[in-house]
Amino acid sequence: MIAREYAESWLEKTQGALLRTMGLKKHFPVLGGVLKRPVAWVRAVDGVDIWIQRGETLGLVGESGCGKTTLGRTIIRLLDPTEGHIFYDLPEETIKRIIEAEERGDKQELKRLREQFDLAAMKGKKLKEYRRRMQIVFQNPLTALNPRMMVKDIVAEPLVVQRIAKGEAAMERVLEALQAVGLGREHLRRYPHEFSGGQRQRIAIARALVLRPEFLVLDEPTSAVDVSVRARLLKLLGELQEKYGLTYLFISHDLSQVQVISDRVAVMYLGKIVELADTQTIFEKPLHPYTQALFSAKPVPDPVLARKKKRIVLKGDVPSPVNPPSGCRFHPRCLKRFEPCDKEEPHLIEVEPGHWVACHLYPPG
Ligand code: SF4
Repeated sequence: MIAREYAESWLEKTQGALLRTMGLKKHFPVLGGVLKRPVAWVRAVDGVDIWIQRGETLGLVGESGCGKTTLGRTIIRLLDPTEGHIFYDLPEETIKRIIEAEERGDKQELKRLREQFDLAAMKGKKLKEYRRRMQIVFQNPLTALNPRMMVKDIVAEPLVVQRIAKGEAAMERVLEALQAVGLGREHLRRYPHEFSGGQRQRIAIARALVLRPEFLVLDEPTSAVDVSVRARLLKLLGELQEKYGLTYLFISHDLSQVQVISDRVAVMYLGKIVELADTQTIFEKPLHPYTQALFSAKPVPDPVLARKKKRIVLKGDVPSPVNPPSGCRFHPRCLKRFEPCDKEEPHLIEVEPGHWVACHLYPPG
């Protein structure tokens, strides 16, 4: 249930965004006992509010297991959300109608509106329509590309599945997508193993582009390739964004890459967003203690600056998402924790224009 006051200010702040999530959750059951019933829940994504403007790149960072990939997959409905909303290219007026129906407790109207407009609740044909507009590039092209299929069939597959084109028309679209990523007609009849890691990732990008989407989730798209190829892939992604007006959610643990490609950066810890700001602000002045620690580990190319830089070493491991700590989830590892931190959960608030932090060090107002 969204508190109306919060929702209204949220809508004002996120005006015109292509994608907005509100209270988005994805929990996975831990099955146990003879009957294999859920005995606990892994709270991989646990109440995430983010927004992405059209044509923008939002970088998503955090340690392994913090929920970044699950969030990316839930947003484009590769995974079904447990709770919450995903508003994609939806006018504020329609979102308000959904919030009002929720507040009134009008279950029938809420169900009708959500199935029609809320990506988190869509099904069947409607969901398929939206999926066409949102695609994903996976981390490892070796596992994402079927080794027994030729490139022409791999790239054409989404067109066939969505029944958009076949035969000659499909091949034209395939060629167009391949050329956009720097490949060509001569690659159509080859198999994935005949390509280098960088070229394989280009094929994966072409497959995502063939449906002419607006929004791409890039899930660690350069982590499986050599360092020398990474810069070229990042450049390609930037060019494609400009050419096609794409919007990106760029998921990575590589802070240097995130800094290069992102307009804004969101930091995730144990299923929640703890800080969000434009790239320059967050790298120059991180406010959340977790972000400060995470960013202090970023390599500095200048050896003099590197020597001066103070690294914040966090003690302890990331707690289990099955049983996250009470209050602020970061409190067992936080060097700045104080009285309310283990009891009260901090909420994401705007502490400076465009700079959002979830930490009791920055109280509202
Ligand atoms: Fe640290 Fe408290 Fe802020 Fe959490 S709320 S990050 S424990 S200071």
